[in-house]
Amino acid sequence: MQFRDLKAQYLALKHEIDAGIAAVIDSSAFILGKPVTELENKLAEYVGRKHCIGCGNGTDALQLALMIWGIGPGDAIFTSDFTYFASAGTSSILGATPVLVDIDLETFNISPAALENQIKRVIDEGKLTPKVILPVDLFGLPADYDRILPIAEKYGLKVLEDGAQGFGGNIRGKKTCSFGDISTTSFFPAKPLGCYGDGGAVFTDDDEVDARLRSLRAQGKSPVDKYDNREIGMNSRLDTLQAAILLPKFKAFVDYELDAVNKVAIWYTERLKEKYVTPVVPDGFYSSWAQYTVLLEDKETRDAMQKRLKGKGIPSMVYYPRGLHQQEAYKWMNLPDEWYPNTIEATKRVLSLPMHPYMSEEMVDLVVSTMLGA
Ligand SMILES: *Cc1c(COP(=O)(O)O)cnc(C)c1O
Repeated sequence: MQFRDLKAQYLALKHEIDAGIAAVIDSSAFILGKPVTELENKLAEYVGRKHCIGCGNGTDALQLALMIWGIGPGDAIFTSDFTYFASAGTSSILGATPVLVDIDLETFNISPAALENQIKRVIDEGKLTPKVILPVDLFGLPADYDRILPIAEKYGLKVLEDGAQGFGGNIRGKKTCSFGDISTTSFFPAKPLGCYGDGGAVFTDDDEVDARLRSLRAQGKSPVDKYDNREIGMNSRLDTLQAAILLPKFKAFVDYELDAVNKVAIWYTERLKEKYVTPVVPDGFYSSWAQYTVLLEDKETRDAMQKRLKGKGIPSMVYYPRGLHQQEAYKWMNLPDEWYPNTIEATKRVLSLPMHPYMSEEMVDLVVSTMLGA
């Protein structure tokens, strides 16, 4: 069994994907060719934003957004302690300080209450200037924007939505990648909408930000003269071949893959909820199921379960085995474990099960019977 079956998806879409790749090669328009613009327009329309700017990957997308606001030394960027490293690392690269915030154990997303406490703490301490809240739509579930956006408003902070895992989710119909002043996503192969290499995108409604992002992804070039550089930028464009691969994959994603992963999630939850803590999708929320993650009793039970699944040829993953405050790179910040009780609990008890749109009910049954046969 595959954890995320990219091959099954390719076989379903092989004809369109192969034709798209061949057309790019035939056109020789390898850099920012037509498929990039076509994809940007479709994605912007889908998430309900004015602009989508393709770039090299989801990490660069976050960095580009922070560069737009001139984020640097002395600035505090508030993000989740329980996420992929890039959510915080991009702030550090620019010399800013990520302020790590505990999560809600039910949703695995940033805790609005802990967020406000950390903002107050940073203000009281007076060393850093609060600038940005960077919520992550973890495992496909949108963060709690009903509570986060008012906090941003109250303290005058920008919101940068890290939608790398959240593309396709929504809250009462409003889609992920539309909640931040700027929002980003990743097309890393295993993400809800993945390509065949690296890729990412930035979303905004602001025309000026759009123009600057298009410049910043190409060395800060002027829109009229590409050898006149206006500011220091990156080389981070979405590859035309990847855009051509994403076009048919995006169509399948919207037409049936999102429904399919939600059906798989229901199969799992119906069968597992008596015995395990299954993922919570709050009322009005819709997940794109980047991961289906259950909580087991404790670390020993979790590790034993992973071993048992492996014995039956079933892959599972621990996302994530440590909080960002426990990463070697952030040891110097000396953040006390007491600030992160839910992250620490999650790192010991989480287990992500195979999840993808091409999973059959029989496959779910095999995972479930292995888990219940204890
Ligand atoms: C994958 C991921 C990223 C980075 O995306 P890349 O395309 O791998 O650079 C950022 N944030 C989160 C939450 C992610 O899961």
